[in-house]
Amino acid sequence: VSDLRFKPCELPDDLERVRAEVRSFLREMLGDRPAARRAPSWTGFDPAFSRACGARGYIGMTWPREFGGGAQSALARYVVAEEMLAAGAPVNAHWPGDRQTGPLLLRYGTEAQKRRFLPALARSEIFFCVALSEPDVGSDLASIRSRASPVDGGWLLRGRKIWTSNAHRAHFMMGLFRTSWTPERKHDGLTQMIVDMASPGLEVRPIRDMTDARHFNEVTFQDVFVPHDQVVGAVGSGWSQILDELAYERSGPERYLSAYLALPALLREVDARDPGVQMAVGRLVASLAVLRRMSVSVAGMLAADETPNLQAALVKDLGTTLEQDMPNVCATLLNAEPSPESGSDCAQALAYLLRAAPSFSLRGGTREILRGIIARGLGLR
Ligand SMILES: Cc1cc2nc3c(=O)[nH]c(=O)nc-3n(C[C@H](O)[C@H](O)[C@H](O)COP(=O)(O)OP(=O)(O)OC[C@H]3O[C@@H](n4cnc5c(N)ncnc54)[C@H](O)[C@@H]3O)c2cc1C
Repeated sequence: VSDLRFKPCELPDDLERVRAEVRSFLREMLGDRPAARRAPSWTGFDPAFSRACGARGYIGMTWPREFGGGAQSALARYVVAEEMLAAGAPVNAHWPGDRQTGPLLLRYGTEAQKRRFLPALARSEIFFCVALSEPDVGSDLASIRSRASPVDGGWLLRGRKIWTSNAHRAHFMMGLFRTSWTPERKHDGLTQMIVDMASPGLEVRPIRDMTDARHFNEVTFQDVFVPHDQVVGAVGSGWSQILDELAYERSGPERYLSAYLALPALLREVDARDPGVQMAVGRLVASLAVLRRMSVSVAGMLAADETPNLQAALVKDLGTTLEQDMPNVCATLLNAEPSPESGSDCAQALAYLLRAAPSFSLRGGTREILRGIIARGLGLR
């Protein structure tokens, strides 16, 4: 347990200027958009909004300037992400590129890949989807079966991916494929590749979620060609690259703020002097404050080039528990039936959040998988 330390970290005062700027940008962009339209924030896909974010320098904030980034600190990026989610901004179009693909390319991409993709991602001219999961293979990712076979000049892909968010609107996919197979060493032989979504042989089929939104898909590959120069990192090194990518993805404010906007929406509609409301809201705010400190601490450790995987897994587990509780607590306090079509703004926002909430603890690694990582980090398994 001695390894479990959350180093104290304060957001520097000068970031309050960044916070004020992003708040004013969001007021300008979102205006008085009701909570019910803001609620899908994570899955809200709005290329015009993403392009405006790019123009303001809110994408790739930590990347070097030569690749279109802002060369700013990870803590500045944290403040921007926090404000975007608290406001329910539609971040989904640029989110995978900003959070996962960009940092991955910076770390493992070739010079040509960085020059081609990073500036375009930072301007939101292109969007990436991320394809890891396959039918029957989610948590046990090393068991993926989609194959890349070597051919002249590159690789031929065959197989199937599932739950691929935005595959129907992305220009490129960052996919994980099996390039070799040794039964007793299944973590070897996995390789990440950039796939052009317009490639012949690639088919995207929609999957609707419980909220009736279409944001994820099934993708099939029938001899899809990928040239050699679109392999990311070393052939066969995909597993360790993915672990880095997921650790980065697990720690941010997005892991406890997915349902935050239910709270201000609720407080606009209930009597805040009611002791029951005060007690329940007080509990939620206390949990939010603690999680925020833990999450900022992880951001501080990442900024100092440490690898706080255990702490990040803890923040995600506790954070998704809170963001799943929040719509339920708010629905009880609202004392009205949440409904997607009628009722108050808060009732409609809650109708969405209640149906979306089960996914909060699935995306990016399930609760049980995180608890396994936590147990291992504590030396318990
Ligand atoms: C909104 C959303 C967006 C997504 N977007 C993407 C995307 O863009 N790209 C992508 O590749 N994937 C995406 N996913 C898929 C997601 O990563 C997987 O759903 C997740 O990893 C779980 O995999 P699974 O669905 O196959 O469930 P399984 O792995 O089959 O798990 C089923 C249940 O068994 C439990 N379980 C599994 N293994 C163990 C174990 N060893 N010990 C204890 N319990 C265990 C799990 O915790 C879970 O409760 C998305 C999912 C959601 C909900």
